[in-house]
Order: sequence, then structure tokens, then C-alpha cells
Amino acid sequence: MWNLLKEQLKLLIHHAKENTSYYQKAFNSISSIDSYDEFMKVPFLQKENIRKDYTQLLSKGTNEEDCSLYYTSGTTGIPICYVRSKTELSEASIIISKNRRKWSEQAFGGTIVYFDRIKEPLKYHFHNGRAISLALSLYNHNQERYSLYVKAIQEFKPVIIQGYASSLFQFAQYIIEQNIKMPNVQLIENRSEHLFDGQRNVIEDAFKCKIANIYGLSELFPIAYECQFGELHICIENAFVEVVSTETGEKLRDGEIGEIILTSLKCYTMPLIRYKSGDLGKIIKKSCMCGSDSPILELIKGRSNDVIKTTQGNLNPVILRRIFDHFYREQFLSIAQLQFVQTQLHEIMVNVIPLHEPNLQVENELKKLVRDCLPSITSVSVQWVQKLDQNSISGKVNTFISLIS
Ligand SMILES: [Zn+2]
Repeated sequence: MWNLLKEQLKLLIHHAKENTSYYQKAFNSISSIDSYDEFMKVPFLQKENIRKDYTQLLSKGTNEEDCSLYYTSGTTGIPICYVRSKTELSEASIIISKNRRKWSEQAFGGTIVYFDRIKEPLKYHFHNGRAISLALSLYNHNQERYSLYVKAIQEFKPVIIQGYASSLFQFAQYIIEQNIKMPNVQLIENRSEHLFDGQRNVIEDAFKCKIANIYGLSELFPIAYECQFGELHICIENAFVEVVSTETGEKLRDGEIGEIILTSLKCYTMPLIRYKSGDLGKIIKKSCMCGSDSPILELIKGRSNDVIKTTQGNLNPVILRRIFDHFYREQFLSIAQLQFVQTQLHEIMVNVIPLHEPNLQVENELKKLVRDCLPSITSVSVQWVQKLDQNSISGKVNTFISLIS
């Protein structure tokens, strides 16, 4: 990808060095960046760097009237703020629209209903006097709220529905239980939350429509978009993606799992260069039936900064992936969603949403698998639940939570 994006990256780096005080300092010892080896000398940008003082990353001469200030959801800590110009936002939506077109011609520029972090239950957005989108609040979900959403969607008849896997799944369960016929939509998008097969089946059944995964951060969106053949292709016009070792920070080869490092190619107002995402994944280069030659990103569940603590040291929650893989294989479709909570050094609690009914055999199997994966865990408890706690700010569900400080 370096060769393809080299010129764009050089332009961005030059701009950042000339126009922001942060990069002026950070790039001080770097004279020129002509090769990937030189690019790798660029220090990582941490969320902490932005949190301290985001204005250091703002480009000189930024026209405030043309820009908006946003806050990230803070899934992994205190929210950080970022600034985007109207042009940058519209460039991002064009990239998303182009990807939607691969699924359906109508989805290109179509009306959308999406779940968002809003206080009011519903919020319409208008363009030239016409409602083009409808936001549904991610909070306070209950039967009454769902009934309101159904009515609004039936009236609005969106082309696209976008949400997080967990909120889409709960809403889809309600639609199925109440035997509601939803209007035809062309595409459902799951925004940056891991989508389990059990959830996918329920959501697709409720809306009679396919679901596509999008990966991105609030501050850099989109990064990758799923094609109809189930592969998450990197949006190379928007992001330069690297995968590095979580221990050494060295670049990894394709196919090796590490932390995803991002450089936004379109953001000049507040450049993000070699930005640590906190997400784990690997890059795969192979041909895809969809015809796209963009590299494929495979995400690994678990933020790299949420670790499992054991007497032998810290472990990455990626180790639990084996359990997910086991339970989400088609023949074991008994679980809709899993969440692991480490409550003590030797103790893990698993919250499970059953696909149908709680099942003792599944429960025992789950306990055994956790103990096999993590021999230092001596106590495993399973709780069958109807819903999982959402992060109070982002509304997302974390798959692994550590309660040990
Ligand atoms: Zn593809």
C-alpha cells in the first residue's frame, strides 16, 4: 500500500509539519520521508496526545466556521475531541456511498435511519426541505421505545438502516417477537461493533435484508467496508493502515496479528498520522470474488488495552476468540452474544444472551472452555441475560471487560 499511497502520505506529512505545532515537534528529527522505512520512524500518535491539547494538532489558518468539533465515544477511556471541516465530512460520506453502491444502486445516496448518541428519542435531518435521515437514540431501549421506532421507520421508509450490532440485534429481536413486517430496506450497516453470526441471522431475518460491517473510529471513518463476499476491504482512498506488534511497535507481515495503526489521508484540518487505534487485527492480501483489489482487514475482538490479568502476567483477550469461534459455528448456534467480565484475578463471569432458551449443556461447555483457555482462572460463573450493559457514553457493548484495576 505504501507505493500506491506514497505521494499522498508525503503531502500530508509535509502539510502537518508545516502547519501544526504537534507535528512540527514530533517530526523535528525527521528530514525527509521518501521510503516506508523512513515513514516507520514517525512516532505513533496516542489518544493521550490529543487528550492533552487537541489544538496542537489543528492546522494553522483553520476556518472555524467551516469546521465542527466532535467528541469520540470514549469506549476506552475519556472521550477526545477532534475537528473536521465540512469538506472532509462530505468526502467521507462519498466514500461510504460508493461502498453502498456495491450492495445496491438505490443505497447510493439513499435515505438512512441510524442509531446515534442523542438524548431525544428521534431526530430528523433535512436537506432542501426533505427529510434525508432519521436518528434513533441509542439509549433507554424498552418496548415502548421500540414501538415508537417501528412506527417512525414504517413512515420514513429508509433505504439504509445503520446501527451497532448489539442495538440492531435487540431491536431485531423485538420485531421478530412482535411479528412486525418492516418496510423493505436495501442495506443494513453495522458500525464498528463485532457482529456475531447469531446476531447476523436474527437481524437479517427481521429486516429481510443483508447486513454489511463497517470498521472505523469516530475520529477516522470509514476505514474498511465489507463486500458482498464477506470481506472487510480497506478504504484505501481514506486511510493508510498498518499492523504493528503490540510489544515492540515493529511493523508485522501480512497475516500477522497486531495493533492497527491508522493515518487519515483526507484530514488536513486535524491530521492523524500513525494513530494508535487500540484495535487488533491483521491485513490479508488475496483476490476477492467482488473484484476489489483493496487489501482485506480482519479484526480481532478485544481492544488491546483491555487485558486479562493472570498470575503469569497479562493476556490479550484475543485468547477468548477460540470460545467465540466454537460457539458461533453454525451447528452450535445456541448463543446470540457473549461478554466476559474479569471480576477477580482468578474469577471470570460470562454474560450470555441465549438465541432461544438457556441451556445447561452449553453453560457447562462454556465454563470448561474458559478454564481450558485460562488455566489460572479457577472460578467461572455464567449468567443468562436478556441484554448486556452498554458503555454509558458510546452505547456499544464491550466483549471483554476487566473490573480489576
Ligand atoms: Zn470483496
